[in-house]
Amino acid sequence: MLESRRARFLVLISSVLALQACESAPEAADLVLTNGVVATVDEALPDAEAVAIRGDRIVAVGTTQEITRFIGDGTEVVDLDGRFVMPGFIESHGHYIRLGQTKMILDLTDTRSWDDVVGAVRVAVSESAPGAWIEGQGWHQEKWDAPATGPDVVDGVPAHATLSAISPNNPVILQHSSGHAAYANALAMEMSDLGDDTPDPPGGTIVRDASGHATGLLRENADALVYDVMRGTMAIRSESERWQEFDRQVQLAAQEALSKGVTTFHDAGSDFATIDGLKRLADEGRLPIRLYVMIRYETNESMAANLGRYRMIGYGDNHLTVRAIKRQLDGALGSHGAWLLEPYEDMGSSIGLTVETPEEVEGSARIAAEQGFQLNTHAIGDRANRVVLDIYERAFVGRPDGDQMRWRIEHAQHLHPDDVQRFADLGIIAAMQGVHATSDAPWIYARLGADRAASGAYLWRSLMDVGVVIANGTDVPVEDISPVASFYSSVVRQDKSGRDFFPDQRMTRMEALRSYTINNAYAGFEEADKGSITVGKLADIAILDRNLMTVPDEELPGARVEMTIVGGQILYRAGN
Ligand SMILES: [Zn+2]
Repeated sequence: MLESRRARFLVLISSVLALQACESAPEAADLVLTNGVVATVDEALPDAEAVAIRGDRIVAVGTTQEITRFIGDGTEVVDLDGRFVMPGFIESHGHYIRLGQTKMILDLTDTRSWDDVVGAVRVAVSESAPGAWIEGQGWHQEKWDAPATGPDVVDGVPAHATLSAISPNNPVILQHSSGHAAYANALAMEMSDLGDDTPDPPGGTIVRDASGHATGLLRENADALVYDVMRGTMAIRSESERWQEFDRQVQLAAQEALSKGVTTFHDAGSDFATIDGLKRLADEGRLPIRLYVMIRYETNESMAANLGRYRMIGYGDNHLTVRAIKRQLDGALGSHGAWLLEPYEDMGSSIGLTVETPEEVEGSARIAAEQGFQLNTHAIGDRANRVVLDIYERAFVGRPDGDQMRWRIEHAQHLHPDDVQRFADLGIIAAMQGVHATSDAPWIYARLGADRAASGAYLWRSLMDVGVVIANGTDVPVEDISPVASFYSSVVRQDKSGRDFFPDQRMTRMEALRSYTINNAYAGFEEADKGSITVGKLADIAILDRNLMTVPDEELPGARVEMTIVGGQILYRAGN
């Protein structure tokens, strides 16, 4: 009895000591960032210098002096030397697998010599399974630092020997940046039954050297001889080859996102089969960044039957969430596809078109409301936006929590001023793309006329002023995924030639930062875990070479991401 009471007393003392020890020297962190300029996006502590991370979470934020206490024997310490630290960017609207697909095509636009081209293919070969096609694009012999020379050079391009030597087991086809020619290696030509004696096809030339050997260069329609075979073999690949390709697309898209500081990506639309693949990768721990996937390309019947099975929140250590549906009501403004209330200024016979019918969207709205899914509908024209607001409003009837359902309108580019307040009243999030304003500004006046452009184009300020949450993004791969470009466009509002584009609608720097972090976390119901550098949240952090809050406007576009951290892991370092 005495023994046990004494034992309990000792336990009590030691835990008091442990508590005191804890206050003087906290449990060591795994990763500590010091001497930074931290914009936390957390109003409780807006500015800091240092962050301590344990596991995948932030455990402390403060001055370098305060955070130094978290450094132990096993702690990795990154001295930021004044660099800018912010919550990882959240891309609120992109197309993840399509981004990966674009990255599968070798980008040769920066090659400056034939050796560069061969070198790029050599890397691709080392990363590809034998037999896999290697597709490239963008090379141009006029861009080379010095013209290629030698007896085998025809049309400024050497014959295929060096290229074929490094790619014996992979067919290679490299499109010229003009789009009017392509270059094939020996295996690609062999698989296409394309030899020295093959006659030129109509409208095309198989370029041959002085002795009549095909060099690999295929002008105009001649490249179809190879591309057709490539498409044919792609169509009959095995299950495992398809899986490898999918995996590679996912990894390449992640690399691209990480290199731009993006730690979470809202995918604006994948079907169930794609989500199955992403789930498998999540199970294998092979999703590098966090995905918020909207369900797309499924019928309302299929969704009604399967949504429950696909609902995932924070699956795979917070790497995969599925709780939203994507629909698309109209097209885009540039192609006169945006659905307008009044005819186009430059095409008086047209008010645009619908891509999916309002009835289909309304059907999705019913299913989403019943099953507790978010509905995110693409609407660009003012009519499309109004019709979607009408559909959402009807779906919320009888649901007192309607304005808490966080339904979204994707793009929300052109609004009738009367509809601005409705976004606020219904609690609708406007998922807009800052950079689209810059890219589209040149033709907006032509399509809409000056008055409609002034009253309705990209109304960030008007929407924010009535309390609407704006989620920023790029619609990658429509635009580059760079959040910096969209951030710049959001705060500067100029077209590509530097002309102001309704500057009254500019965001402040802080509003733009929030539109890329905490707002997007909110748009994915994830603000408890993401969107600010706050103790307890996931350690998803971007580190840049300059302060997005303070550098002059003209220095913003050059901002470079130097490090990207997801869940406490440094997944990207510039130069590596
Ligand atoms: Zn899109």
